[in-house]
Order: sequence, then structure tokens, then C-alpha cells
Amino acid sequence: MHEPERFKSPEYLAVLDEATSSAACHFSASALNAMNEAAEKSYPLEACGLLIGTINNGWQVDEARQIENLNRERAADRFQLDPAGYQSVDRELRGTGREIIGVFHSHPDCPAKPSPTDLESAWEGFAYPIISICNGEVDNILCWTLNKNGNRFKSLSVKHSQ
Ligand SMILES: [Zn+2]
Repeated sequence: MHEPERFKSPEYLAVLDEATSSAACHFSASALNAMNEAAEKSYPLEACGLLIGTINNGWQVDEARQIENLNRERAADRFQLDPAGYQSVDRELRGTGREIIGVFHSHPDCPAKPSPTDLESAWEGFAYPIISICNGEVDNILCWTLNKNGNRFKSLSVKHSQ
């Protein structure tokens, strides 16, 4: 895949923690489909949304729900999750044992690697899958989470049920 120059810049490289992690993010088939569909439907703009499930032996994502991307000015390479969408899902999940455990977004025509902006907005304990979508078709998904110091992303292995 074509990798824009900025992904090789010191600012971008500083976002990644090279340490390998044994942790995994497990996706149900429907969660994976929902993320792919959101990325395709929104292309060439970025799609974003919430991961819903439980944290128990890694992240167990049973549902992914697209939320409006409020960043219209730079919607091709930035996302800003609609806070009202977040709050309504959070409210709906209260008392169900399921919770919001991460945020997904797509990178149109860019690698599935996090940017410095992604790092700035990341929360501890959340899983951050990034869907690389090229020419409107999903290329691959990589998943990330903040490292212990909260200053870089480390990669998580992506597992899914068939
Ligand atoms: Zn991003």
C-alpha cells in the first residue's frame, strides 16, 4: 500500500511503541462487518464509532456502532466523535454489564497506523482499531492501545470469530 511521507516522519514514528504486547482484541463477525461497512460507506471521508462489549482476558467486542464524525473541515484525515452519540450509547449500556471499550476509525488511502492526533485524543484502557481503506475497499485492520506510560500506542493482535 502507498504510505504517505508523513507516516515516516519523526512525529509519526514517536507515536508507536515497538514493544510487542500479548494482549488481543477479539471481534465478533458482526462487529467486524459493521466497522468495514462504516469505512466503506464514509469513504473518502473518515468513519468513526464505538466498540461495545466487555474487558475480560483482553477486549471482547461484540458490537461496533458508527457515530457521526463531527470534523467536517478535515473529515478525510481527522475525526471527532459526536459526544451526544457517545453519551446516548453510554446511557443505554448502563446496568447491562456491557460497556464502551474502544473507538474505531478509518484511514482513507492511508496505513492503519495511528497519527499524532490519534494519540492526543486517546484514552487509557480503550482499544483503537484503525481500518485502512484504499480506493473504497478495506485493506486491513490494525488495533492499538495506549502503553503503560500513556505516551505511545502499542499494537494489539486482532482476533475474530469466523
Ligand atoms: Zn487516525
